[in-house]
Amino acid sequence: MPAVTVDNLLVLPRVAEPVPTAEERPVRTVTTAPSAYEGEGFPVRRAFAGVDLRQLDPFIHMDQMGEVEYAPGEPKGTPWHPHRGFETVTYMIDGTFRHQDSNGGGGLITNGDTQWMTAGGGILHIEEPPEELVASGGLFHGFQLWVNLPARMKMTQPRYQDIRAGQVALLTSPDGGALLRVIAGELDGYSGPGVTHTPITLVHATVSPGAQVRLPWRADFNALGYVLAGAGSVGTERRPVKTGQLAVFGHGEALTVAADAKMDGPSPALDILLLGGEPIREPVAAYGPFVMNTRAELVKAFEDYQKGRLGSIPAQPASEVVPDAPHPGHDVL
Ligand code: MN
Repeated sequence: MPAVTVDNLLVLPRVAEPVPTAEERPVRTVTTAPSAYEGEGFPVRRAFAGVDLRQLDPFIHMDQMGEVEYAPGEPKGTPWHPHRGFETVTYMIDGTFRHQDSNGGGGLITNGDTQWMTAGGGILHIEEPPEELVASGGLFHGFQLWVNLPARMKMTQPRYQDIRAGQVALLTSPDGGALLRVIAGELDGYSGPGVTHTPITLVHATVSPGAQVRLPWRADFNALGYVLAGAGSVGTERRPVKTGQLAVFGHGEALTVAADAKMDGPSPALDILLLGGEPIREPVAAYGPFVMNTRAELVKAFEDYQKGRLGSIPAQPASEVVPDAPHPGHDVL
């Protein structure tokens, strides 16, 4: 169950119901995310696997991390590795992750916190559970989303934003049946704290069993719904979706999601991530940890990394330093 919850949804601001004539977004596809391992071996679901990048634009890649209950000694992270050409958004629903980068950014994110890292022209970073969590084990659940940058921003200065759980805008649906956490961008004029180079909206919704939500959604954004936990349906056609499935919506001004009346899994509600953004509409050349426009730029990124131009690993106890390597798992081509 997500760490950020509200006892009484009825006290929250309510998102206005879209006007009845608002064009409903149809469901184009529903795909199931394959399971894999990331970094040094933590379980992920590759949320966008098998979906055409043009449908995802401006998003590139998303991993759901966990949900997993670790035994003592089990929690794992990533080694030091580089990025260039995009932004990563890491949101911890439950548990704790530690981040450190070559640009001086870093910190602990836990239970509803988000960190936003603009890799821009180049950065090295490490993402790992803190020592206490490795020792104790425990619940670990979150996601990491990759947001593309347009060609003119790819080589921008790296930037790090820490967003605490308390800064997230909490809203409810017109009938109080859903908790809507606006992490970035805006929903019906309510703004979340994340500042993005590419305009996006990122909402983590918990929909009570039997409840339905119809939300206004900017017509110039794309729209995706990824089920983190539970079961329900998407669209007015009520297409069934469950944990680990991604719905791609077509054009329109409103989108509908509903939770099943009875959950048959461990989750007490439907937890769905709703995300959309302004498409960049440029060629994408993505490989491993780099997302560029052309193959030549990818080759240059690897060369620059090998020459140490993407930054250097900050001084720290040698026992914590792991030889750097590109993510073996981030095979987004
Ligand atoms: Mn990374």
